[in-house]
Amino acid sequence: MSDKKVALAVGAHPDDVEFTMAGTLAALGDAGYELHIFTVGNGNCGTAVYDHNEICRLRAAEGHAAASVVGATYHEGLVNDIEIFYDEMTLRRVTALVRELEPEIVLTHSPNDYMEDHQNTCRLMVTACFCRGMRNWISNPARVPTFQDVYLYHANPHGNCDGMRNLVVPSLFVDISDKIDVKEEMLRRHVSQKEWLDKSQGMDSYLMTMREICGEIGEMAPRGLAYAEGFRQHHFLGMSAEDKDPLSDVLGSRVQKQ
Ligand SMILES: [Zn+2]
Repeated sequence: MSDKKVALAVGAHPDDVEFTMAGTLAALGDAGYELHIFTVGNGNCGTAVYDHNEICRLRAAEGHAAASVVGATYHEGLVNDIEIFYDEMTLRRVTALVRELEPEIVLTHSPNDYMEDHQNTCRLMVTACFCRGMRNWISNPARVPTFQDVYLYHANPHGNCDGMRNLVVPSLFVDISDKIDVKEEMLRRHVSQKEWLDKSQGMDSYLMTMREICGEIGEMAPRGLAYAEGFRQHHFLGMSAEDKDPLSDVLGSRVQKQ
């Protein structure tokens, strides 16, 4: 590991980070963080056209291409979509990555989101961070336990509502108005998804949808922002020695809290 501080953004599927966290990740890159993007799922169900092997290959390539826009390293999915379970085998594999990267800041999904893959990804990340230093929790592959402080932030759910249609209001708003074009460029690299999302979710344009979601979060911000990403910070117990908020400290005037 280098001495650089590491920020890790984790989504269930390739393109989830781009929808909900990429502007913030880009800002952390500006602040000197080493950036990593990881998706637990390989994106194999995000298609009405390609077979399993072809869509996995395409989506991994798209993930790498999107990450490269902000100089991030992309870590490919471990399991198939819809098979993202909070289970022992997956948890051991996710823990290995957390130990390898030693992130200080982790961005991931909301505990309450519109579909189970997102929620299970959130649970896997919470526990993987929690048990990073437990010597008797053996990761797969086996990695030495780590003891760095980790600060975990939950992005707003897709569409800014939980599965029961309740609006989720973030406690922390990151101004990404100057990063919206970078975010869109990253999302644009997920070429296979335009056709799929148009067909499966009735989105006229996934790029426009991303902008609308960020615009809605910006409107919720205490002092109003053109485009924002929203987060709620996980409790620090088991994660860090002290209750700190490095995302706000590092991003300074970009952040509004309520
Ligand atoms: Zn997703």
